[in-house]
Order: sequence, then structure tokens, then C-alpha cells
Amino acid sequence: MPLEILTIPCLQDNYAFLAHDPETGTTALVDIPEAAPILAALEDKGWSLDLILITHHHWDHVEGLDGVLAKHPAKVVGNAADKDRLPKLDVALSDGDRLSIGNETGVMFDVSGHTIGHVAFHFPAAKAVFTADSLMALGCGRVFEGTMPQMWESLSKFTTLPGDTVVYSGHEYTASNAKFALSVDPDNLALQKRAEQIDAARKTGTPTVPSILSDELATNPFLRAHTAELAAALGMQGTDPKEVFTETRTRKDNF
Ligand code: ZN
Ligand code: FE
Repeated sequence: MPLEILTIPCLQDNYAFLAHDPETGTTALVDIPEAAPILAALEDKGWSLDLILITHHHWDHVEGLDGVLAKHPAKVVGNAADKDRLPKLDVALSDGDRLSIGNETGVMFDVSGHTIGHVAFHFPAAKAVFTADSLMALGCGRVFEGTMPQMWESLSKFTTLPGDTVVYSGHEYTASNAKFALSVDPDNLALQKRAEQIDAARKTGTPTVPSILSDELATNPFLRAHTAELAAALGMQGTDPKEVFTETRTRKDNF
């Protein structure tokens, strides 16, 4: 049986996720922007929390931790390489280390760029990847701590996952991401269609997260720096993907 995954809107535009293995009753939380909506979702489902996976140190991904731990003494899991800036970790993993949610085995891997030490969690059998502020729906996180080439290298790791992988990212930024994507890649028909769907979803308040990796590969400019199409759209034919990515991300910073 696959993981049951719940998307929980928190704060203004953050998302947390609960992942529940029905075979063992094990439940994991990915990020803790705010305790109240997470506690309410656990209560509603009748789940108790076993694990808390942290993607990166930013306050809007960890702020609710004490409030959740007060009710659910779960084990806190995160990147050993960033342990000095993260809340106290019970399980400190390194790039490529495995972890389990009940019978579901996954891997934590480094996707530094937005922060140094940002990680993603991939559960292949569940076809789920938790990306927070690395790969986002039709976008990517701003490069605060790493370098542009490093962010491109991190995002490239997602391009090798199966296309039907579901991408659980950290924020509802998709509508503004779509406006930017159309500005750099206006002739992309798949992008035009997706932008319309996003508009329709946001009009009814429907979350656009999670998204499907194959859609990101077809429409997300930050995953397409290696394609001839995006390079041509930017007038950068034959340019190194790292430079195409840098140009794209810089334009977004100024958009
Ligand atoms: Zn962040
Ligand atoms: Fe964030």
C-alpha cells in the first residue's frame, strides 16, 4: 500500500505534509511552518506522529516544531551537515542516506543552493519527493546561500527521477511563477496550458502543490536550462546550462 500523503496549508503560503504508512501506522511530517494546522490534521486523521523531517533551516519551515513536539514526541530528522543551524536532531543523516516511514524506504539528498544544506526526501515506491524551497511548482527557491551553478546542479538531480513522481514543494507561489515562466518561455504550449490551469485552480483557492515531475520538466524554466528550447527562447543557443540557469534565475530575481 502506498503512503497516504496530506497537504497542509500553513502561515500565509507555506505547505507542510503528513505521510502515513497504513501498513504500520507510522506517520511522518515534512517541515513545521506552524503547529496548529498540523496538530488539527493529525487529530482529524487520528494519527500520532513518529518522525519529523526538516528540509532546511529557514524559520518558516521549523517555527512550529516545539508546538508539535509538545503533543507528539516524534524523532526529528535532518541534515547532519547543517545541524548547527537546525533544531536539535535525533537522527542526523548525510547526503544519500536512507530513511524509512514504516515500510516505505526513502533517501535524503543534498540540494544546496537556496540554503547550504537544504535537502530533499525521495520515496520511490510512493512516487513522492519532498523538495520544499529547492524545486518548486513552476519555479525554484531563490539562491540565498549557494551559487547559481550549485543550484542548477541540485535541481538537475530531480530530472533523473521518474516523470510520474509527485513533487511536494514548500510554497504556494505557482501563479506568480507562471507569469515569470511565460515571460522567458512564451511559445511553450505546455506552459501556456498549465498557466491556464493554475489560474483556474487559484480562482477557486485550490492548491497547485503538489505537482507532477513530468509537468515540471515540460514547463518549469528552472528545470529546462539544459534544453535547446529554453536556450533558444533566451537567445543563448549552445550556452552551458549553468549559464542559462543563471540568466533565468537572475531575471526572476528582478522580475
Ligand atoms: Zn526557505
Ligand atoms: Fe520557505
